[in-house]
Amino acid sequence: MKYFDEYRDAAIAENILANIRATSTREIRLMEVCGTHTVAIFRNGIRGILPENISLLSGPGCPVCVTSNEDIDKTLYIAKQKDVILPTFGDMIKVPGSNSSLEEERARGADIRVVYSALDALDIARRNPQKMVVLLGIGFETTSPTIASVILSAEKEGIANFFILVSHKLIPPAMKVLLDAEDVGIDAFLCPGHVSTIIGSIPYEFIPRDYGVPCAIAGFEPLDILQSILMAVQQIERKEREGLKPDCAEIEYRRAVRPEGNTTALKTLYEVFEICDVRWRGLGMVPQSGLRLKERYRQFDAEVAFDIKVNSSREPKGCLCGEILRGAKIPMDCQLFGKRCTPEEPVGPCMVSSEGTCAAYFKYGS
Ligand code: SF4
Repeated sequence: MKYFDEYRDAAIAENILANIRATSTREIRLMEVCGTHTVAIFRNGIRGILPENISLLSGPGCPVCVTSNEDIDKTLYIAKQKDVILPTFGDMIKVPGSNSSLEEERARGADIRVVYSALDALDIARRNPQKMVVLLGIGFETTSPTIASVILSAEKEGIANFFILVSHKLIPPAMKVLLDAEDVGIDAFLCPGHVSTIIGSIPYEFIPRDYGVPCAIAGFEPLDILQSILMAVQQIERKEREGLKPDCAEIEYRRAVRPEGNTTALKTLYEVFEICDVRWRGLGMVPQSGLRLKERYRQFDAEVAFDIKVNSSREPKGCLCGEILRGAKIPMDCQLFGKRCTPEEPVGPCMVSSEGTCAAYFKYGS
């Protein structure tokens, strides 16, 4: 199948691997930022075929996992209010908040419905004008333009009962936090393919320029990932050999990513949203790493429409999701992994989400 088979060719994979082995001469800690990459790396057995001196760390690129407990508690508060319908994406339903989950609140009678897109949520609002319909807006630069476009549609149609609890996040500021963290130690990044189709490569340029850390924007097929690892390794070796900083964020995923990104999607995104500080699970409050609705669109903001009251939020006891999202720990460091915490009975979000690191380790083995 075009665009799949040619990126899964075993002979080419062996060739790239031989090149990686021949090029890499030192210990390398390489972080794949994106949850889809984490799963693709496991599914294709890439960890097992790399030379032992190359370790892959999983980063904070799962939108469900990085949503703070406070935002989940706010969602639960809204779900319990009278005359509210809360559409949600499927992965969120089991994520535990401080005292319950959306699944538990649904069992207690809250009107919580799984949807596949923000458009479905808007449609629920259209068909239920007597109810307040509130969508938890999660995700990175990939999904936020869609939410922005849905808000523009709601405004155009004059839909007054549709709200977003905005928890959208931006990836490059989170990468900066990881680079500044003393307990992580990253030699190179595999930058997220989906996010980069929207933002391009330019927002990552500060990483090679200011930190001397190579970046390669990777696609999701096995050859994409191997080739991106080779690009990162070559940049590291060049840096060591010639003492030169890597000069740019390289794009391996050229069939989808341009340096300037998708300017139409970015225009829609920043028509509706502006940048603000937000709290991430695992990273804490990260300056300029989130989105909020601009003044003109505040009537769609659930935080304005509801007087939300949540007590101080608590992380699940014993759960190391925060450290795992920073690449400071791996799932097997958690005493609950595979015992009290499984995909059927998850304790933390990294086991709930299909893109969560704990779920990937559980499904594919360490
Ligand atoms: Fe949290 Fe479960 Fe992962 Fe442990 S195994 S870090 S409890 S999600």
